[in-house]
Amino acid sequence: MKIRLEPHRCVGAGQCVWVAPQVFDQNEQDGTVRLLIEAPPAELHDFVREAARVCPARVIQIEEETDS
Ligand code: SF4
Repeated sequence: MKIRLEPHRCVGAGQCVWVAPQVFDQNEQDGTVRLLIEAPPAELHDFVREAARVCPARVIQIEEETDS
């Protein structure tokens, strides 16, 4: 799995950080999303998928791969 963000669309709602704090953080200045891990380990995949699902601005794009 690889994560790509479209941060210009981020509204700083913070749901991604609440769901997957190991992977996402928020910019201290404006609250926009920061990606901590571009290719998270398998045990975090479900949390990343949930973060993408709950993001109100569809900022989080996931590339699924069969080998991870
Ligand atoms: S949930 Fe979406 S809109 Fe909210 S901070 Fe995360 S990426 Fe930005």
